Amino acid sequence: MRTTVSFFPNPIAGALDGADRLPTPKVLARRARQRRQMLGVIGVSYVIDAAILLLYAYAGTVAVAIGPAFGICGLGSVACFVALSEAGVNDRFKDHYFIVQQSIASLAIMLAFSYLVPEAGFLFLCTLFVVFSFSALRSTPRQTAMTFAAMAFGLAALFLLTDKPISMPHGTYLERFATMLVFVLTIGRCMFLGIFASSLRESLYKRGLQLKEAYKRIEELAELDELTGSFNRRCIMRMLDDEIARAHRTKTPFSVALIDLDWFKRVNDAYGHPTGDEVLRTFAITVFANIRNIDRLGRYGGEEFLLILPDTPHDVAARILDRQREIVADLDWSAFAAGMRVTISAGVATLAANEAPDALLARADSALYAAKARGRNRIASA
Ligand code: GH3
Ligand code: MG
Ligand code: MG
Repeated sequence: MRTTVSFFPNPIAGALDGADRLPTPKVLARRARQRRQMLGVIGVSYVIDAAILLLYAYAGTVAVAIGPAFGICGLGSVACFVALSEAGVNDRFKDHYFIVQQSIASLAIMLAFSYLVPEAGFLFLCTLFVVFSFSALRSTPRQTAMTFAAMAFGLAALFLLTDKPISMPHGTYLERFATMLVFVLTIGRCMFLGIFASSLRESLYKRGLQLKEAYKRIEELAELDELTGSFNRRCIMRMLDDEIARAHRTKTPFSVALIDLDWFKRVNDAYGHPTGDEVLRTFAITVFANIRNIDRLGRYGGEEFLLILPDTPHDVAARILDRQREIVADLDWSAFAAGMRVTISAGVATLAANEAPDALLARADSALYAAKARGRNRIASA
């Protein structure tokens, strides 16, 4: 995941942190790092304005002390928030960025300087755009309403309760230059925030896609047998219940087959367990490749599989299974080990009226037992 936007909180990361759970030390460290980066950006913003004030001082618009004083106030407030952050105070609060507090501190500084230095008052008021764009990115609607109200009251007090001539200096060429810089840098900072917001949106979008992928994978893992890729027992049993209910409802023929690999213990004993695993996998893939897309294959137990055959009468089911048997027996298993042969036996049962899943499976199991008893590599019908 990209980290370019990390100076500002990522809501998805926050959600994944688990707002209700105690954050882990790793999460706390990441939050502290993000706060440090955010406060760094705010500090730089104050330094930019202080530098422009020095330019105004050079132009004779404001006193020389104003730039440093503004820088000290701004960086002092940033330092206070850094100290709180480093002391871990922020972590005790839901909004660990102290967005409202920081916005109000900035507002107070800007209004105070507009009042004290009305000759360059527009600079501080311009910076309010940056402050509130920044806070709006992270704020909840309630926080936005609070900071907006504070800003509106502050500006009302400045404009309606005082008669300070808030000015935009443009008398001399240098003043015009500094004023131009104020606009360019204010708009630049707003654009930077806009770019940040869009990269955040992009990162959220990507994170959303990743989550979707992960969710799909989890769903697959919950349904599939890891070794063979067929449905796991829980899943195939659920499918069996659903399909039986559907067959009873629609009164369509429905068959199942319990398939068991013959003498599989001998395969393991002769060629080793890993080869046995490969044989199971190959068997499952082979069956998959040769069933209809309405059929479902699941691992019922060790080397025993359940094949669900919806809309299938008994004779068709028996034919399908016999074909599977032939295909498996005819496979060239010598790729695994010279002389290897693998065959299957299966018990096929077709759903009777009002029959329950357990009863149907029991009949399929008896048929399988009969197929084994009759010499294996064969299909028996219940
Ligand atoms: P039968 O023809 O009567 O079915 O004989 P069999 O040897 O196949 O029957 P049995 O039930 O005695 O042996 C099944 C073997 O399947 C025993 C077990 O080690 C093996 N098996 C079960 N699950 C796995 C697995 O995941 N991987 C491997 N390699 N072997 C497995
Ligand atoms: Mg077996
Ligand atoms: Mg078995």
